Amino acid sequence: MSHPIIPIVANPDALKSDGHGCHSGKDEMLAAARAAGKSEALDQYAKDYPKGPHDQPQSMCPAFGSLRVGLRMRRTATILSGSACCVYGLTFTSHFYGARRSVGYVPFNSESLVTGKLFEDIRDAVHKEANPDLYDAIVIINLCVPTASGVPLQILPKEINGVRVIGIDVPGFGVPTHAEAKDVLAGAMLKYARTEAMAGPVAAPREKRSDKPTITLLGEMFPADPVVIGMLLEPMGLAAGSVVPTREWRELYTALDCAAVAAIHPFYTASIREFETAGRSIIGSAPVGYDGTENWLQAIGQQCNVGQDKIDAAKNRFLPAIKAALAAKPIKGRITMSGYEGSELLVARLMIESGADLRYVGTACPHTPYSELDRQWLEARGVHVQYRASLEQDLAAVHEFKPDLAIGTTPIVQAAKELSIPGLYFTNLVSARPLMGPAGAGSLATVINAAIGNKSRFDEMKAFFGNAGEGDRAGVWEGVPVGRPEFRAETRRKMEKLAKKRKAEEMI
Ligand code: SF4
Repeated sequence: MSHPIIPIVANPDALKSDGHGCHSGKDEMLAAARAAGKSEALDQYAKDYPKGPHDQPQSMCPAFGSLRVGLRMRRTATILSGSACCVYGLTFTSHFYGARRSVGYVPFNSESLVTGKLFEDIRDAVHKEANPDLYDAIVIINLCVPTASGVPLQILPKEINGVRVIGIDVPGFGVPTHAEAKDVLAGAMLKYARTEAMAGPVAAPREKRSDKPTITLLGEMFPADPVVIGMLLEPMGLAAGSVVPTREWRELYTALDCAAVAAIHPFYTASIREFETAGRSIIGSAPVGYDGTENWLQAIGQQCNVGQDKIDAAKNRFLPAIKAALAAKPIKGRITMSGYEGSELLVARLMIESGADLRYVGTACPHTPYSELDRQWLEARGVHVQYRASLEQDLAAVHEFKPDLAIGTTPIVQAAKELSIPGLYFTNLVSARPLMGPAGAGSLATVINAAIGNKSRFDEMKAFFGNAGEGDRAGVWEGVPVGRPEFRAETRRKMEKLAKKRKAEEMI
């Protein structure tokens, strides 16, 4: 199917900066995007995902969050529009995490970008993909350069052959973390589904729904967690509802049709806006550990007008089991922890209740009302809570507290190991475990205590290898590496000269 090329005001400035992406000037990209008519989306992002104390945590390309949400949904096609290097990285990461689904890509070059042909190519691709036998929805994600140049996904048809079309801008210079990029897509889908539900009858869920009022759960969780939450809710006459981001379009309707929303992960600001517009109340924190579960059951019960006797029945059924599980599997040792999943404060609570001497918890996510109770609880126990934590802050915590175990992202774990401190990856080894209710209590102890127990191995390795292969001496050498500070000074001089030259050219 071919479509006439319509002129759009693409902004060639987006292509001016070096490297066309993460490495080019963020401010220039932002200015280009604004000049190209993207101010509305960018202003909303700035409001939803506040930055500070610094600009942006160092984490993976934010667009991965949206891509992952799209790829995990049944009957959903996900298409990227961006530079080939970005798309390569994003598809690589998707398949590394087991996407088992094709990632669509509409390539471009400078000409197709500035003439507006890229938009036409995207529109053609969407028309070609829109097969209602295969798809409920097609998601198109504008990465940095197409966003900065103003590729107007908002004027794509909203629906083709009954297939919904969702176009979103997810630039690294507008959405701070991949966690929040999940919210960008989840929020856009909820908005679409809410509009559909308001207009008339919508598809029923695939599986029969509970006839009890349901609690929608916000945040990607370990698969057992929604089941455990369902058990916790049962004595109060409630049931666990859909988990957002959903795995299928029709679950969006059941997610909206709930008694209340539990913001298990606290950063889903756009999604929360949709739930609030639909008249739903939001409850923060989560049923983690003894105190967390008690407070959460009370808050949910009260919000849903459950009698205190039933709330107490739920507490009496589960709290003793949680206490026993925590006591049976204590964690011993000093720990610092950081991550970018959004569950960091919840994991921190569990650790403290398990007896860990936790000193620092850093999260790449922003401070929102939905983690406020967790922050207060942790700070009352002497834990330093750092929102929008930078790598430097996480590293400083490791240096300051000299923990027995540093839990964090890849560079933190690497730095800790260089210091002979055992390290664990937050994403793969800590957040991918049950956290809720009795199943969560004690689930972390085995892996954490085993890691702490490895300290002597690190000392032995350090004693054996000394500083071989450290810093400039890393890599494979035929002889003994020789430091060349004069080369370094020369390179620095050249770089400074180049930077000055560029600055001068910009001013011409
Ligand atoms: S899309 Fe992602 S990888 Fe590409 S330039 Fe933007 S932030 Fe970097």
